[in-house]
Amino acid sequence: MGISVIVVDMLNDFVTGVLKCERASRIIPNIQRLLDFARKKKIPVIYVSDAHQPGVDEEFELWPPHAIVGTKGAETIEELKPVEGDYTLQKRKYSAFYETGLDSLLKKLNVDTVVLVGLVTNVCIQHTAADAFFRGYRIIVPEDCVEAITEETQKTAIKYLKVNYGSEITNVQELMKSISLRGETHASVPLRK
Ligand code: ZN
Repeated sequence: MGISVIVVDMLNDFVTGVLKCERASRIIPNIQRLLDFARKKKIPVIYVSDAHQPGVDEEFELWPPHAIVGTKGAETIEELKPVEGDYTLQKRKYSAFYETGLDSLLKKLNVDTVVLVGLVTNVCIQHTAADAFFRGYRIIVPEDCVEAITEETQKTAIKYLKVNYGSEITNVQELMKSISLRGETHASVPLRK
C-alpha cells in the first residue's frame, strides 16, 4: 500500500482573491518542493479543488461567492499548476472526499496514507482529515504546507488534527527525508513515533 499527496484549494480565490488567506504565501514554496519530490518518486499527486455552482451551493450563505466553476478564481495558482500525470478532482463542500470520487481513486491507486496540504487548516483540511480518518486512511500533515487565517487558528487546528484523527504532524523536510530513507517510491511511508 502506498502514499498520496492531496492538494486542497490552492486556488486563486483563496491565495489572492475573494477569500484570500494572507498567510498562504508561506506554504507555496514548501508545497512546490513536496510536489516536485512526489512526482520524482512516482507518488500520486491529487488536486481536490473547490468548484462551486453559482447561486445554489449552501456555502454561499456563510461565505462570499468563491471558486465558481469556470472562473479564474477557481483555477489553481500559477506556482502550483498540475502537471501531466497528476489527478484533478472537483469538490463543492469542505471535504475532499464528499462526492468527489477521491475514495475510489485512492483505492485504485492502492493508497492507504494521505498527505494533506493546502488551505485552510481549520476548514477544508480538517474536514478532509475527518473523512480520511472515518475511512481508515493514515494521515500525515506537514504543518509548513497548510495554513489558516491566524496563527492561533493554525495551532488549534493542527492540534485537533493530531488529537482527533491521529494525524502525524511533520514538516516538508522531515517528510521527504523519511520517504527517501526507506528508498521507496509509491509504497508505504514510515510514520514518526
Ligand atoms: Zn468553498
